[in-house]
Amino acid sequence: MKRVVVAGGGITGLAAAYYLSRAGASVRLIDKAPRPGGVIQTIAVEGCTLEQGPDSFLAAKPAAVELARELGLEGDIIGSNDSTRVTYVLRKGRLIPLPEGLMMVAPARVGPMVRTSLVGWGTKLRMGLEYFRRPRRMDGDRSVAEFMRDHYGEESLEYLGEPLLAGVYGGDPEKLSVRSVLGRFVEMEEKYGSLTRGALALRRSGRTGGGPLFRTLKRGLGSMVDALVAAMAGKVEMIRAEAETVEAAGGGYRIRAAGEWMEADGFVAACPAWAAAPLLRPVNARLAEVLETIPYHDAMTLSLGYRRQDCARLPPGFGFLVPRREREKMLACTFVHNKFDHRVPAGMAVLRCFFGRDAIAMDDAGVVAAARRELERILDFSAEPVFSSLARWPRAMAQYTVGHEERAAEIESIVRGIPGLEVAGNSLRGIGIPDCIRSAREAAESLTGQAPLGRPAGTPQSGPPGSRERTAG
Ligand SMILES: Cc1cc2nc3c(=O)[nH]c(=O)nc-3n(C[C@H](O)[C@H](O)[C@H](O)COP(=O)(O)OP(=O)(O)OC[C@H]3O[C@@H](n4cnc5c(N)ncnc54)[C@H](O)[C@@H]3O)c2cc1C
Repeated sequence: MKRVVVAGGGITGLAAAYYLSRAGASVRLIDKAPRPGGVIQTIAVEGCTLEQGPDSFLAAKPAAVELARELGLEGDIIGSNDSTRVTYVLRKGRLIPLPEGLMMVAPARVGPMVRTSLVGWGTKLRMGLEYFRRPRRMDGDRSVAEFMRDHYGEESLEYLGEPLLAGVYGGDPEKLSVRSVLGRFVEMEEKYGSLTRGALALRRSGRTGGGPLFRTLKRGLGSMVDALVAAMAGKVEMIRAEAETVEAAGGGYRIRAAGEWMEADGFVAACPAWAAAPLLRPVNARLAEVLETIPYHDAMTLSLGYRRQDCARLPPGFGFLVPRREREKMLACTFVHNKFDHRVPAGMAVLRCFFGRDAIAMDDAGVVAAARRELERILDFSAEPVFSSLARWPRAMAQYTVGHEERAAEIESIVRGIPGLEVAGNSLRGIGIPDCIRSAREAAESLTGQAPLGRPAGTPQSGPPGSRERTAG
């Protein structure tokens, strides 16, 4: 039986350990945090189910749904409440609905784009002319900002691209790589020239999938963590410690955690790239060097609970995004009682505010005060919250900056050349939960030589072509 050590007990490490143990490996999972799940943490306050980290996953990518099914959670999978699906963008102090049919940055429906007041007529005209662009292949990478400006102009970057990506990556479109973050749109450019034509064709083909855009679990994403831990009880040894170093030894590995050495035939680095780099330096210095170049941003969520009777001023819909031009600290806010209505009792409302790196240094009281000030400015809403719950996630969001594709390819190539070693998680090919689970499954398959794990034979490994990026909404 193969002995494998997994470092990192977020969804990636848990899923890797689960798939490895299912394939017959003897697994030890090392995580330094007091609770498993990494950034997935669900808590209950005043009858509300609060997500401290991620709150849902993209329906188009099957890995998370497949794992949930395997864990017996099929009956708990629910969609976002799309009857109230409208997301606003703040513009000059007003909340303007994102036009319907927007496929991340490209309009897949013409009418709503023509009617929206989110962008002016100059941009609309430009979007119309974009339809006639000829296919072209660009070598190399570009920033998301450069790509969007090229296709639709500055205003669409400011009021569509930037806020949508800030809500997913907490990142800067001037730095993010279009190939890694919007790969599907680069393919459209190559095939159609126009992103609008590509989006319309995709919509007509029906490959955009029906049903809610997001899925989640009724009792919170933490229930997937609990189910994984329960499924591995007695099979996987869970060790609460910090993995300190990894050395190649006798065709396998020696791993030191909390001063103790353990031996294994395989090792999975399922922690962020910045944590994996120092661990793996003794195994391969170049691997560590490239892992270290992947930047991570901080993130923070603040859930504010209110009595529903105090919330008459709140608009319908899923929430709003704040473009950089209009931003103080808050990047986005979700109206949880609308988006996932079963998570909030009838008499309550929950606003989940999302902050990026600019706010992480503020103290708790300062964050709550800033959030309330901004909610008053944006929503004209000043009710007294019944509770607040803050979660800080330093260096949690991998940033796929320009050139990421080459970095990821180099990391993968080095790893392929080192028997028994895998790097999984959000550092390489997708930061969403389904991407992390898929990478964990692939790592387990590669280490055990068993494929495909946990999937009916013949089903694809990932979502529809080019479905790498998450879609906000
Ligand atoms: C606020 C927030 C909101 C998000 N929203 C969404 C969303 O709605 N939908 C979505 O699909 N994705 C979302 N994401 C992204 C997604 O949640 C993450 O990319 C994913 O959960 C990362 O899982 P992971 O296991 O790779 O890493 P993590 O969850 O970061 O876990 C890494 C683990 O490694 C451990 N560790 C680190 N170093 C060591 C070491 N040396 N030894 C032992 N253990 C170590 C840590 O303790 C941690 O438990 C969000 C992320 C954040 C932060």
